[in-house]
Amino acid sequence: MAPITNGTKKDLTVCIVGAGLGGVAGSIAMAKNGVKVILLEQAPELGEIGAGIQMTPNVSRFLIKWGVADVIGKNLVEFEELNMRKQDGTKVGYTHMIPEVRNDVGWPWWVVHRAHLHDGLVAVAQKQGVEIRVDSRVDRIEYDVAPGQKAKVFTTKGDVVEADLIIGSDGVKSVVRNSLFPGQSTDPIQPTPNCAYRAVVPYSEVRKDPQAAELIEKLTMEVWMADHKYIISYPISGGEIFNMVLSHHCTTPMSEWDSEDCVKTLRETYKDFDPRVVKILEMIPEGSVKRWPLLVTGPLKTWLSPQRNVALMGDAAHSMVNHMAQGAATAMEDGAFLGVVLGEVVKGSISLAEALEIYEKVRQPKAYAKQQISFINGAIWHLPDGAEADARDAAMSPELSGKQYLRSPNLYGDPVTVLGTYAYDAEVDAQDAVRAHLEYKGQEEIGVAGVTKKLADVYLNWFLPDGGAKSHAVKGNAKENAEDAARLQVAVEGGGKGYQAEGKL
Ligand SMILES: Cc1cc2nc3c(=O)[nH]c(=O)nc-3n(C[C@H](O)[C@H](O)[C@H](O)COP(=O)(O)OP(=O)(O)OC[C@H]3O[C@@H](n4cnc5c(N)ncnc54)[C@H](O)[C@@H]3O)c2cc1C
Repeated sequence: MAPITNGTKKDLTVCIVGAGLGGVAGSIAMAKNGVKVILLEQAPELGEIGAGIQMTPNVSRFLIKWGVADVIGKNLVEFEELNMRKQDGTKVGYTHMIPEVRNDVGWPWWVVHRAHLHDGLVAVAQKQGVEIRVDSRVDRIEYDVAPGQKAKVFTTKGDVVEADLIIGSDGVKSVVRNSLFPGQSTDPIQPTPNCAYRAVVPYSEVRKDPQAAELIEKLTMEVWMADHKYIISYPISGGEIFNMVLSHHCTTPMSEWDSEDCVKTLRETYKDFDPRVVKILEMIPEGSVKRWPLLVTGPLKTWLSPQRNVALMGDAAHSMVNHMAQGAATAMEDGAFLGVVLGEVVKGSISLAEALEIYEKVRQPKAYAKQQISFINGAIWHLPDGAEADARDAAMSPELSGKQYLRSPNLYGDPVTVLGTYAYDAEVDAQDAVRAHLEYKGQEEIGVAGVTKKLADVYLNWFLPDGGAKSHAVKGNAKENAEDAARLQVAVEGGGKGYQAEGKL
């Protein structure tokens, strides 16, 4: 991005707590934008547990731009098709990922082993000069400091790190989040009935059974939708491992992962599914499966400290159910966004407080929307047989015959969702937000509707005499403009119909 202003360059030190996928991605984005980053991780070794993960186009763009994709190489798999199925395997929806979605969105929809993804991110972060300290569990932060003083991060080992900004990227049980809301619990630790098994089977095993092998003839993503449960499968590890996420509502709500008897209960829960996938469930090695609760954090009132020296990102701020494959993606978007706005602080265009306020203002509603869409997609995939599931399947059916469609309940292929969620570019959003902030700074808003001069120019003033110079609409004087402001307010709040009925709009 071209420099926005010619401010004085500033040194900025950020301490990120938590080297999960979000924290490491954020560290790359920040380091690339001139920020000095210290990344603290409680685990004695870096890594990710679990199995596969989708890296949708809204974040594959960053893996490519940051050079992470080059490190991961062929372990990133781009699948060709998505098949939406009923429990018995009947196909009801379809998305042609390559070339259609790939070409229209411009970036791949990858599936990858979490360990490969994390290793790739760490390699690039280290190359960018990020200082990563393992075995560094943070137990306390100090941020109520005098202006100009640095905030402090304390580890259980007794280390102290001073930084201009502390970022809590420490997951659902975030110590940093809890420090921001002293005396209040913001933990999403109340048990949830929403949970999922993660399981993997090598392709070499699947190939041994001709019926099961039908599912790996091509590189596909498969979704089997059923009554309060579903299975989603996709290839990982260069197309050599069949990865499954098996979502369901469990009878005893949970807040921690468990591994007891998982293979047995999983086979029992999904025994009536498509016989091909049931055969693959039989191949899952005993003791290899865990069941995960799908915990939701927030929406929180704020992600920032009053002193604007602490910010939350990723699961610490907004963990979500996994049904849109957006938890890690949203964390990485947060990181990319922070990279841009903090880069502007380094360039001297905006202050740290301004950068963080832009981040919170733009990213909070995005994350909240994704939390909601993720729930909704779970509801769509969990519909029991009946009129609603029939309506869902009928609405997806144009996809099966290759017809043009504008909307679909298959949200992974629905044009509205693909463009709104999977084609979103967090860096461009951040650049636009900084520009808008600088352009609108100090501008009076028009009336109670909060319309800025910039938008009034675009939609209204261009056709008014003198570019609206003599109009009260452009002056933004709420008193002179009471009637228009009221009209705008009604329209913004969705009450336009009443005005229409009165002939006022
Ligand atoms: C079944 C399932 C499937 C999913 N599938 C997808 C998918 O396909 N795509 C997708 O985008 N997302 C998916 N997700 C969500 C995704 O896994 C999470 O949203 C993501 O991993 C969150 O990353 P994070 O870095 O914010 O937090 P975390 O991964 O929780 O990382 C937090 C890090 O902070 C460290 N830490 C914690 N406390 C401290 C402390 N006090 N001091 C120092 N370090 C600390 C932890 O050790 C950890 O390394 C899925 C989730 C589930 C459960």
